[in-house]
Amino acid sequence: MFPTKDSEFDRYHLWHPYTSMLNPLPCYPVASAQGCCITLEEGQELVEGMSSWWAAIHGYNHPRLNRAMTDQITKMSHVMFGGLTHRPAVELGRELLAIVPTGLTKVFLADSGSVAVEVAMKMAVQYWSGTSQNKQKFLTLRGGYHGDTYAAMSVCDPENSMHSLWQGYLPEHLFVPVPQCAFGQAWEESEADALRAAFTEHHHTLAAVILEPIVQGAGGMRFYHPQLLKRVRELCDQYDVLLIADEIATGFGRTGKMFACEHAHISPDILCVGKGLTGGTMTLAATLTTDRVAEGISRSPAGCFMHGPTFMGNPLACAVAAESLKILAEGAWQQQVSSIEQQLNAGLGPLIHHRNVKDVRVLGAIGVVECHRAVSMAEIQAFFVEAGVWIRPFGKLIYLMPPYLITEQQLAQLVAAIAAAVEQDALFR
Ligand code: PMP
Repeated sequence: MFPTKDSEFDRYHLWHPYTSMLNPLPCYPVASAQGCCITLEEGQELVEGMSSWWAAIHGYNHPRLNRAMTDQITKMSHVMFGGLTHRPAVELGRELLAIVPTGLTKVFLADSGSVAVEVAMKMAVQYWSGTSQNKQKFLTLRGGYHGDTYAAMSVCDPENSMHSLWQGYLPEHLFVPVPQCAFGQAWEESEADALRAAFTEHHHTLAAVILEPIVQGAGGMRFYHPQLLKRVRELCDQYDVLLIADEIATGFGRTGKMFACEHAHISPDILCVGKGLTGGTMTLAATLTTDRVAEGISRSPAGCFMHGPTFMGNPLACAVAAESLKILAEGAWQQQVSSIEQQLNAGLGPLIHHRNVKDVRVLGAIGVVECHRAVSMAEIQAFFVEAGVWIRPFGKLIYLMPPYLITEQQLAQLVAAIAAAVEQDALFR
C-alpha cells in the first residue's frame, strides 16, 4: 500500500533534485504562484527570490504567457518536427535571431538546458569530423556548470560534479583554473596565462572551448572579468577552435545585458539558451550556431546533424517562448534589472562587514552573499519560509535572482531575510 497522504507519498516515492531517498530534506507543498509570490498549500505566501532557478523571469501566471499557451493548446500541443513544421517554431526562431549575438543564424530546438549542451558539444565534434583534423576535446574553466547529462557533466567542475565517481565513463577534457579576476576589478593579463598555455599545447585536439560567459552559476556564483572572455575569443580565432557560450542561466537580461557575451563584445560560434526562454513555464532550450558551423556539419560524413528528439520544437513551448521574447523585446527588463541591481547593491553590500560573510557580489539581477561556513539547509530553509521568502542557498552561498517585475518592497523583504539569516550562527555548519 502506498501512503495516502500526499506529503508521505512524496517523501517516500518522488525523487527531488540532488536529494537522498533515505533522509530527504523537507519539501514545501505549493498551491499556486502569481507574479513574484509562491503560495503554499497551508496558505503562507512567499516572495520568490529564485525565479525557479533562473527561469521565471516574468514572474508566475503571466497573463500574456498564459494566453500564448491556451491559444496554442486549442490548435495543437505537439506534432513531430521531422518533416513537419509550424508557426510557433518559426516565430520563435525569428524572435531569437533578432536578439542573439551577431553571426548566429541557425537554431536547434532542444528539450532542456543539459540537452542543449549535449547538442552544442555534438555540433562541435561533428563540425571537425569532416576535416583532416581530429579535434574531439573540450577546454573549459574549473568552477563551471553545464548540466547533469554525461557530456555536460564531463565539462562541469570535476570536484563539484564528482568526476571520480564516473571515472572510465566520462570523457576526459581539459580544465584551466577558476577565473580569479572578478568583474569590476582591474584586469590582470596574467589571468589568461593558463588559457594561452592550454591552447599552445592542445589546440590541435580542441574541438571547442565551452564556458558560461561572465557568470559561473551553479558551480559557485562567481562573476569574472569580461577581458578573460575576450582573450578566449581571440585564442579561439587564432587557433581555429570553436567557442561555445552556455548562456542557459545568464541569457535574457539576467546580467544586465540581453546576453552576458555582450559584456565582452564577443559572439560565440555556438550558443546555448534555456531556462528563461519560455519565461519559466515549460521546458525548452535552444542551441544556435553560425552558417559556417552548420554548413560544415552538413558537409561532414554523416551529411546532417545527428540529433532529433521526439519533442523537438514542441509547439506549446515554442508559442510561449515566442511570447516571452516579445515581452523582453519591449524593453522594460532593462530598467527593471538595473533597479534590482541598485537595490541589491544597497541592501546586500553592507553585509560584507558581517562576521559570517566572506563576500558580497552583485551583477544585474543577481545578488550573492558568500558566507564563511556552509548553511544548514533544512534550518535555513525553514527560517526563510518563516520570514515569508523563497530563497534556496547552496553550500556557502545565499543568493537571489528574482523575477524582473519584483517590486521594491518585495525585494526589500528578500534582502532583509538574508540580513536576518546571516545574524543567526545556528543556521551555519
Ligand atoms: N548550463 C547552465 C549554465 C545551467 O545553469 C544549467 C542549469 N542549472 C544547465 C546548463 C542545465 O540546464 P537544465 O537543468 O535545464 O538541464
